[in-house]
Amino acid sequence: VETYDVVVIGAGPGGYVAAIRAAQNGLNVACIEKNPELGGTCLNVGCIPSKSLLQSSELYAHMRDHGADHGINADLKIDFSQMMGRKERVVSTFNQGIKGLFRKNKVTTIAGHAQFIDPHTLQVGDQHVSARHIIIATGSEPTPLPFLPFDEQKIISSTGALALSAVPESLIVVGAGVIGVELGSVYARLGAKVHFIEFMDRICPTLDTQISKEFQKILEKQGLTFDLSTKVTAGEVTDSGVELTVEKEGSAGSLTANIALIAVGRRPFVDGLALDKAQITLNAQKQIPVNPSFQTAQPHIFAIGDVIDGPMLAHKASDEGVAVADLIAGKTPHINYAAIPNVVYTYPEVASVGLTEQEAKEMGLPIKTGLFSLKANSRAGCMGETDGLVKLIAHEATHHLLGMHIIAPHAGELIHEGVMALQTRSTVHTMATASHAHPTLAEAIKEAAHAIFEKPIHI
Ligand code: FAD
Ligand code: NAD
Repeated sequence: VETYDVVVIGAGPGGYVAAIRAAQNGLNVACIEKNPELGGTCLNVGCIPSKSLLQSSELYAHMRDHGADHGINADLKIDFSQMMGRKERVVSTFNQGIKGLFRKNKVTTIAGHAQFIDPHTLQVGDQHVSARHIIIATGSEPTPLPFLPFDEQKIISSTGALALSAVPESLIVVGAGVIGVELGSVYARLGAKVHFIEFMDRICPTLDTQISKEFQKILEKQGLTFDLSTKVTAGEVTDSGVELTVEKEGSAGSLTANIALIAVGRRPFVDGLALDKAQITLNAQKQIPVNPSFQTAQPHIFAIGDVIDGPMLAHKASDEGVAVADLIAGKTPHINYAAIPNVVYTYPEVASVGLTEQEAKEMGLPIKTGLFSLKANSRAGCMGETDGLVKLIAHEATHHLLGMHIIAPHAGELIHEGVMALQTRSTVHTMATASHAHPTLAEAIKEAAHAIFEKPIHI
């Protein structure tokens, strides 16, 4: 039996980061991964391949739709297999990168599927591995519709959508959440007719309502179409594609397309882990329950990332990975869950941090909001990209920032001004008086801050 200070199960952004940090803390660490490559969902079939395809398709759509306005006339052609090949090369560069980091930090990689045989011992193939501390970071998997299992040909999950061999003529996306709008955008830009079926009365329902409505209008201008408050009740695969039966306001209808992307959420993954051998039971959401120190029912077994409660985000998993490795090493880390940013990498991007207007009102907080449209931002004008806005939410009495919501090019970068403001408990006056370079998109944040208790200059 090989014995380690720390064994991490899963090499996603939760697990591989925990392993590196634990090794940096001077501990003897192994990381068990069943997939041939390191990096988990995020690197292999999530964040990175999707952002690679978003980048390529955005470049194409920009040249096609705006090139002539800039005085650039080009004859554009899509080489889809080159685009997919580039995506694979981006992924594999980072796969090698994590391998290198493991070598540099002396983290032992154990290839294979881990399963508990007792609370201190794991079996991987015919090898037994034991550890003083075990970190479960086994992540999540796409949730299928119960009556329509994935075949990854015509009924696809995000994994299938990242591996198509050609751009389909038509794509139905079930679920207008973040995966749906990101991957739907990719194929719409490349020429597919993309139609969404969403259960709720708005897209990306966890966003601030005003932002969600504005976002939908922008996507509609790009040709995406939406059926909201609509339920899929049945579906079948046909010769030419798929046929879905849908129900809207009590009346049934049917929709056909070449492919259906099912993007209705992800669920924690613990298959084959034999958690019962460690006397760990799942909660009603099928997550591994943990205390604020990420300890499961067994104090020496921790769990982090998508397999526990909280937003299913790579940076949340990584922050927890660092925190748990530091806890094991006797440090006192802290994660500010109220300041975890959320980014939708469409064009323009949608980013948010902190409370939505609805959440603040439900909490009974006295609030004031400030809005600033990109139409009055000079950099956005130079870019020719004036769809979007910045919305800030402040506490009416203390003037502290409570939430920031942005639709803009590079919103995913801009949002970190809000993250830092929340982290340092800044007031919106601090944000309004801090110098912002001209001309930048970030000036829209300063103007929105002015708009709360005074007036913006440029409107
Ligand atoms: P995972 O990344 O799922 O890693 C778990 C690992 O554990 C896997 O490698 C798995 O093979 C391994 N494993 C499981 N069980 C065992 C076992 N018994 N033995 C050995 N190994 C095991 N998040 C963002 O923040 N930004 C984004 O832009 C973003 N884009 C996304 C796009 C898509 C299409 C998808 C699907 C997800 C996206 N996410 C994004 C979410 C992000 O990928 C996840 O939140 C993140 O990967 C969770 O990290 P994790 O370490 O908890 O789990
Ligand atoms: P999601 O929760 O973001 O969206 C699912 C959508 O499907 C919701 O709008 C929901 O109302 C709808 N829905 C649920 N059941 C339905 C049904 N039966 N019929 C029609 N609509 C239905 O989930 P997702 O888009 O699958 O993404 C999964 C996870 O991956 C998310 O939690 C997200 O955090 C993560 N992710 C993050 C990013 C990012 O940060 N940019 C990108 C992709 C994925």
